Amino acid sequence: MLKEKNLNIDLSQLRGFRFKCLESCQLCCLCQPELLQEEVEYFLKHYGDAVCFKKRPHQHYAIKLKQNQGPCVFLVDRKCMVYDSRPHFCRQFPIHFHVLDRIQAELDLSCRGIWDNRGDDLEVLASQLIYDKIEAFTETLKESRKLYSEFISECRGAGLWKDPGDLRIQVNQSLEKFLDLRFLARVLELSVEDDELNLGEIKNEESLKIESVDIVKVAMKATLDSISVSKIVDAPVYCDDEGYWNVFMTKGSKINWCRILDDGSIEHIETIDPNSVELLVPDQNGRRLLSKYLMMLNERDSVLGYACYLVDSFEYEDFLSNVYFGVIGTSILDLLWRGSLLAFLKGRKLDETSVKEAIIFFDMDLLDAPTIGAFV
Ligand code: SF4
Ligand code: SF4
Repeated sequence: MLKEKNLNIDLSQLRGFRFKCLESCQLCCLCQPELLQEEVEYFLKHYGDAVCFKKRPHQHYAIKLKQNQGPCVFLVDRKCMVYDSRPHFCRQFPIHFHVLDRIQAELDLSCRGIWDNRGDDLEVLASQLIYDKIEAFTETLKESRKLYSEFISECRGAGLWKDPGDLRIQVNQSLEKFLDLRFLARVLELSVEDDELNLGEIKNEESLKIESVDIVKVAMKATLDSISVSKIVDAPVYCDDEGYWNVFMTKGSKINWCRILDDGSIEHIETIDPNSVELLVPDQNGRRLLSKYLMMLNERDSVLGYACYLVDSFEYEDFLSNVYFGVIGTSILDLLWRGSLLAFLKGRKLDETSVKEAIIFFDMDLLDAPTIGAFV
């Protein structure tokens, strides 16, 4: 049925993944559920006290959070009190639909329910979700295509455009190298220079001679920048394997590690000196998993959309290639540093489990980055 609509839908990111929600987790109930226009009346009528109106990033109704910073008010003893009538936003998790010049289903790897690979077929679920909101998708696709083609023409006019297919091929051909800190340092160094970056031109011997980039500090900065927020509600949450909602926020030169409790209050755990965290390199199994994740990022339209957004924000001064490779490189470094932080706290190596936990900690934030195109 969806084929008939000629919408150009890409579900390939979901292939091979199954989903079963874990009762102890409820990480997604910390993301404030926005209400669709057609849901507002129902929730206002039946649960008026639980609904709030928000002005940012656009005007909309949403379900309140406990103490304005904890889980959704409908979550009691880690169970949803309105499960059968929960908002569309909640039904959709862990799938996000990014709309650029096509509709792409992206998987939120912060959801622990996809890592055991059992339960529902996500491709079937995604098709149904698109079908349920076919008009909204059609309309958003029309607007996003227009926006994207304006971006392309502006970017071409400034001589900064590169076909995304070429960018993705370059990253795919350098997957192994991207896991090497010296190569990453060279990519980041060249990405801010005036010449257009071509990954194939970075020779191994060249990346061995890095002197100007202190990659350990760059990795630490990537993470510290992403956890540098003033309110706890804006901080990345890492739901660990015991179901604790951990938050790491910068506080001066230190990291404040705390936990969000079920009633929305905050418990301080520890203050961490980031300089005491050693940047680790993954072992062989960790590398294998990281490499798979990198392939996935490289195919995500929201990552491409993020690079486009940055080119636009910096007023068309940088090559799309440089920004795209910079985004990929910084993402890997942020992830490695977060993995090193978790490994440091648990006294572990950066093995497959630590890399998995780092992805769980990191992925939701990446999916939250601004992007050209839209999430539906
Ligand atoms: S994050 Fe995933 S596993 Fe956890 S409650 Fe939400 S859907 Fe379930
Ligand atoms: S409505 Fe239910 S599923 Fe949705 S965030 Fe609230 S508690 Fe979670």
